[in-house]
Amino acid sequence: MSDVSVAKQIKHEVDKRRTFAIISHPDAGKTTITEKVLLHGQQIQKAGTVKGKKSGQHAKSDWMEMEQERGISVTTSVMQFPYHSSLVNLLDTPGHEDFSEDTYRTLTAVDSCLMVIDGAKGVEDRTIKLMEVTRLRDTPIITFMNKLDRDIRDPLELLDEVEDVLKIMCAPITWPIGSGKNFKGVYHLLRDETILYKTGQGHTIQNIDVIKGIDNPELDERLGVWAEELREQIELVNGASNAFDKELFLAGELTPVFFGTALGNFGVDHMLDGLVEWAPKPQPRETDEGEAVASDNSDFSGFVFKIQANMDPRHRDRVAFLRIVSGKYEKGMKMKQVRTGKDVRISDALTFLAGDRAHVEEAYPGDIIGLHNHGTIQIGDTFTSGSDFKFSGIPNFAPELFRRIRLKDPLKQKQLLKGLVQLSEEGAVQVFRPLISNDLIVGAVGVLQFDVVVHRLKTEYKVDAMYENINVATARWVSGDERKVDEFRRKAEANLALDGGDNLTYIAPTMVNLSLAEERYPDITFSHTREH
Ligand code: GDP
Repeated sequence: MSDVSVAKQIKHEVDKRRTFAIISHPDAGKTTITEKVLLHGQQIQKAGTVKGKKSGQHAKSDWMEMEQERGISVTTSVMQFPYHSSLVNLLDTPGHEDFSEDTYRTLTAVDSCLMVIDGAKGVEDRTIKLMEVTRLRDTPIITFMNKLDRDIRDPLELLDEVEDVLKIMCAPITWPIGSGKNFKGVYHLLRDETILYKTGQGHTIQNIDVIKGIDNPELDERLGVWAEELREQIELVNGASNAFDKELFLAGELTPVFFGTALGNFGVDHMLDGLVEWAPKPQPRETDEGEAVASDNSDFSGFVFKIQANMDPRHRDRVAFLRIVSGKYEKGMKMKQVRTGKDVRISDALTFLAGDRAHVEEAYPGDIIGLHNHGTIQIGDTFTSGSDFKFSGIPNFAPELFRRIRLKDPLKQKQLLKGLVQLSEEGAVQVFRPLISNDLIVGAVGVLQFDVVVHRLKTEYKVDAMYENINVATARWVSGDERKVDEFRRKAEANLALDGGDNLTYIAPTMVNLSLAEERYPDITFSHTREH
């Protein structure tokens, strides 16, 4: 193909793609909505096979022994499906006990997020935390108010809560008619049509029942008293809430809001319609050379945001998840791993079709490919078709949980350190070595990370280790003027450590200690993320 037609093809593929992830509090309905989204993407005939965590079934992506014992998914799998004329990539984010730093990092590798909120509960803590992460890149957010088949809170109050707590404006796109036993459907404010809800359609794509126009007398026939109530509500909503504004949405300042029930498979398609219409196509990405790389640039580039070990128990390899930023991946192509300067030939990258691993022939910006490796790839690594820039924006996040790690056999200290440093380079956990003691502190965002690390230390490094509790509230990476940092280092030595990459880190016993340190040393930056 000529350069011009390759460029055209890439542009065409880029325009089609939407890469997003779901943020939600546990039990808000992320798994259920994922199933329905895939149903609409025609990927599974009958929704309900993504993850059987509660029924004890194991979905295809469950791979590690430990996962199987627990019936949870440690993996962040990637699902690609067509919807209308778009091609959607959904990056699954570990949520329950498997919540981890990977959840955060995945959010920095997508172009938009879907926020799922339980309509009876409103905004919950995990959602607040995840929203903070999306703010690092001002990622556009689409909102789905779920569980309308139950009695939910007053919809206007829910929107107020999102605006107050999450500091994002809400623009309702659909508006619910009743809830719980009285859930009748939604009115689509932009299309001026009412879509009626039918129960018992959770596992199929329904024949939709639509009434055009809010003043249509058919609405009164079908909805009775609810029709008048809807008209009054819509008048109120039009006056009291924000209109949808695409610019504000793309800036991460306003979220379009959809109402529905994932379980009843109602409203999910309205949300998907909004996603493919408004959510951004694969976005440019900043580099250390200052200039962003655009997705329609023909030269291949991408970055690694997640590494997963032992996906296939028969092969003890690791798979690095690479998000393509520009150009085109072709089977057998050569790429440069910028950190090592080495060229690697990639003949067997993987794509992810709802948990199945399949080999890809070609892939485009916005797509995720899996690269096999034996510990040579690190989180944040950039791959290019030859250039030497590195992408920025795939950070480490300050851990929220800390433990001291101790050996059962003290002679294996060296292996332990080696294992921990390698595992920290893969993003499995973070390791901190205090300046004035021989302790090893590990830090994580989710508890399961601790178990994974002990398991992997044992199986991959033959090291038996255990944890002890330790009094640490949070960690911050320390930087600033060299003299000031030296002064701080002398004064606060007891609470300073080096992380896996030898970066100076303040290990705060309490949040109050952190505030005091920040007050006392205004010239020092205490950062809660660190770029690779
Ligand atoms: P996740 O933890 O966010 O992945 O949530 P799940 O999708 O596993 O859902 C948690 C529970 O809520 C499950 O029992 C679901 O069946 C239920 N659920 C999800 N969506 C709905 C809904 O729209 N209506 C009702 N009534 N239950 C729902």
